[in-house]
Amino acid sequence: MSPTETAASAIAPKDATSTEDRIGMPGAPAFIPHLRARFPVAPRSIWKDVPDSDWTKWQWQQRNRVTSLDVLDKILPIPAAERQAFEEVTAQFHMGITPYYASLIDPDDPRCPIRQQSVPSAAELRVLDTDLADPLAEERDMPVPGLTHRYPDRVLFYVTHNCPVYCRHCTRKRKVADPSRSALKKQLDDGIAYIESHREVRDVVISGGDPLSLSDDRLDDILGRLRAIEHVEIIRLGTRNPVTLPQRITDDLVKMLARHQPVFVNTHFNHPRECTAEAYEATRRLADAGCPIGNQMVLLRGVNDDPATVKALNHKLLMMRVRPYYIYQCDLAKGIGHFRTKVSKGIEILKCLRGHTSGLAVPYFVVDAPNGGGKIPLLHDYVVAHEDNHLTLCNYAGKTYCYEEPEE
Ligand SMILES: *Cc1c(COP(=O)(O)O)cnc(C)c1O
Repeated sequence: MSPTETAASAIAPKDATSTEDRIGMPGAPAFIPHLRARFPVAPRSIWKDVPDSDWTKWQWQQRNRVTSLDVLDKILPIPAAERQAFEEVTAQFHMGITPYYASLIDPDDPRCPIRQQSVPSAAELRVLDTDLADPLAEERDMPVPGLTHRYPDRVLFYVTHNCPVYCRHCTRKRKVADPSRSALKKQLDDGIAYIESHREVRDVVISGGDPLSLSDDRLDDILGRLRAIEHVEIIRLGTRNPVTLPQRITDDLVKMLARHQPVFVNTHFNHPRECTAEAYEATRRLADAGCPIGNQMVLLRGVNDDPATVKALNHKLLMMRVRPYYIYQCDLAKGIGHFRTKVSKGIEILKCLRGHTSGLAVPYFVVDAPNGGGKIPLLHDYVVAHEDNHLTLCNYAGKTYCYEEPEE
């Protein structure tokens, strides 16, 4: 068996009809083989000799994260200019890449989308006049530290500052991995007390950092305490682990999540190359445990700023039972200016999706407005003219149609 085949068998049930320890319908196939076959197993790069028993464990992936230039050097060529900037960049913004995610980098492609999202670049040192320290005013809108309450009925609750991979385009780049800011016990208690005393909060978005950086037990405790609050209807987990550390989605984790349903999972795939067999298995487990999964893509220059890439990504996501939810315009955080596109690019991408493919593959394009304005959706205007009760509309194919409105 090739290393690839060994890896494939290590990440998924042996046969498609296995019903052992499955949470969903007994007797249902775990996956449709010819669909899953479109999701390649990660190539393993310099870790080809690592036994499956290590490679498939999230603890091994976490312990062996790439955090130095020395190890990066073995995976891909780093140009001289980038080497020089490396120290300065990583002093400001942490680097950490799981072996799994690093192995998806194409060493021959300097513009590799996986590389651009994970390997530090000198461009991060360029700060623009328009960049902001707290681009979404998340800290300003905190009634208690670690909890942002901006919308009437839901809150954003930060439970950790750690992530398995530090995304180069992260909006919370300056805060992640700072141990002095790790959510202390008191901060968690205060956040939960706030939610308890605000009966209007019916939806809690757990974020960070990445909440799956917490142990199953700590997460179970937080979810249990939220579930004990009667006005909390739904809980959401914002996690990139299905993309950067899919091994973290263990049967034990999803069995724990299944006890706290309804739990929605919002994840963050940005490119079809992230849709591997490992990621497929991770989302399969989450979906089988009853978690509806959404995707929040960030529009990134040179990574996914074209309609064909986004369409290919969204088609793969639907096969993984992940519903594209939002495409975010890149915000004004410091050190991510090189990723920003024109807003018109996002509108164009949406126009290329709507009508041309399944509505399920069409997310909302939103600008998270600076200064705490929240998410504002933007859409191509399909109304050509609107006079009295007479509407002229343009469909996806560019043909115009009339619609007569009723009288007032
Ligand atoms: C994005 C966000 C939410 C959730 O918004 P939805 O549109 O409901 O997904 C809640 N609070 C804050 C501060 C947010 O940024």
